[in-house]
Amino acid sequence: MSTIAEVRTRRLSVPLHTPFVTALRRTTTIETVLVEVVDSDGAVGWGEAPQVWQVTGDSLAGSQACLDGPLRDALVGRPADPRESSALVQRAVVANRSAKMAADTALHDLAARRAGLTLAEHLASWAGVTTLPPTQVRTDVTLAAGSPAELAAAATARVADGFGTLKLKVGTDAATDVARVLAVRAAVGADVALRLDANQGWDAFEAIRVISALEAAGADLELVEQPVPAHDVIGLAHVTAHVETPVMADESLFTLEDLVEVIRLDAADLVNVKLAKCGGLTPALELLHVAHLHGFGTFVGSMMESHVGVGAAAALVAAVGTTSLPDLDAAWWAVASPYAGGPSYDGDRLVLSDQPGLGIEGVLS
Ligand SMILES: [Mg+2]
Repeated sequence: MSTIAEVRTRRLSVPLHTPFVTALRRTTTIETVLVEVVDSDGAVGWGEAPQVWQVTGDSLAGSQACLDGPLRDALVGRPADPRESSALVQRAVVANRSAKMAADTALHDLAARRAGLTLAEHLASWAGVTTLPPTQVRTDVTLAAGSPAELAAAATARVADGFGTLKLKVGTDAATDVARVLAVRAAVGADVALRLDANQGWDAFEAIRVISALEAAGADLELVEQPVPAHDVIGLAHVTAHVETPVMADESLFTLEDLVEVIRLDAADLVNVKLAKCGGLTPALELLHVAHLHGFGTFVGSMMESHVGVGAAAALVAAVGTTSLPDLDAAWWAVASPYAGGPSYDGDRLVLSDQPGLGIEGVLS
């Protein structure tokens, strides 16, 4: 068996075609740390650690230091097989889940390449799934924050781009949230799926008021994500119990311990699993499996990350399936993929590479 010879990192800045605007920030680039895990035969696996100040607190500098320090120390000289080495990544440091995501993704990409399998085929086999994974994964698209008129215009443009599911950021101003959502519904008609993400912006009572008002107005929402602050799992359960619209836990759920709490309190209908919150593909597979066993809807999302991270999340969805369409539009906002090879977008579909692993052959300079 090959061993891990090298862990290389570099920063990457990917320009966007349209500014990504949320209540918390406006960004015109995806900033990320790219990692290459190289084995003793010279084979390379790719991963990335996106910057996620607002959710995990992870910075590019911190993730790069973690990868170049304790994660490299834990991996170099050890077996390249993730069955042997993925636990070393999780044990090497506390927190730092973006860095762990990068290392764990790279280990799986490397294993898939060595086996001559696509990353989705490798993950399916890892999870004991015997059906052949699809080669394309559909995604929603997020509308940048704006006034009701701006949102309606953006919604119409995204539907013209080929998207059938729109995600709307709410929770910044409960007084105008209803008007903004209804403006989008009026602009796109009944056939487009609408999902909301409040990003912790309401309290439980406000959430019930706003969601109930939208239900009464016929907004026809597919789901509402993280209505209340991350730590308020009891409030999350209260909202889930008092609205008809399915409620999804996002910031409330990073790890298996968080999932157990959500299950124990019946705090949500669905769970949003992200590689950067849980620390990579290995923990994500476990979260999706446990959530599914307990009857929760399953969902995969991403941070603002490039085609490596989004491609890994899409391979996960292709391999094990989820109950809801994923939120994997992050790299769609890029002017172009910064990589040779790898996944690409076609309308609302993420087209996975048919080459081994993620299919990434290098970084275009
Ligand atoms: Mg979210």
